[in-house]
Amino acid sequence: MQVLEDADAHKLESSDGVIVVPCSDGDQMPDVFEHQCALAREAGRRVRPHMFSLHGGAMLIAENCPLYREYQVDQLLLQQIREAEGTDLKGIGTVVLYIHAPCGAAGLAGLSLVEQVVLLIRAKERVKEIDTTNVVVCFVHVDYGDRQRTYFISRDRWLSYWASLGRSLWGHLFPTDPHPEAVPTRTSDSTQMAP
Ligand SMILES: [Zn+2]
Repeated sequence: MQVLEDADAHKLESSDGVIVVPCSDGDQMPDVFEHQCALAREAGRRVRPHMFSLHGGAMLIAENCPLYREYQVDQLLLQQIREAEGTDLKGIGTVVLYIHAPCGAAGLAGLSLVEQVVLLIRAKERVKEIDTTNVVVCFVHVDYGDRQRTYFISRDRWLSYWASLGRSLWGHLFPTDPHPEAVPTRTSDSTQMAP
């Protein structure tokens, strides 16, 4: 089953720009930034990346992310997004949430990539709560050493994966099931999930 999909296959339609929440990693930022600009350019829409970057990126928005809890970083980022999507400031209705690997901040917190994904999915839910009409997209940026790739991850697909396989493989990483709502369905059948 394929959880990660090519990000280029997911054109963002926003004509008002995009709010982007990546890790601040300066080795990855040029690729992240240029990719966002290229996606906009190729779709013929306005190039307007509105960046909120801190160590760890969008996973900081999950209330159970262990990083920088003492600074209420989740509340700060949610407030910044709220302002940027609000019509009083920028009125940007599309939010792109990033995690990446390898991420030094995730390493400091001892987070595996699976835990990062779980936090990213939770971050998406919280950003969606700001305004359910907003488009919230999750990207995973990977540096393989000789090349960088960006993947799209769908919440629904991730939950299907969690129900069919992820829970049994990775559930032990979590004190409580991070996706108790994910239950096996016919659509989570691995043959149907194959690309
Ligand atoms: Zn990082």
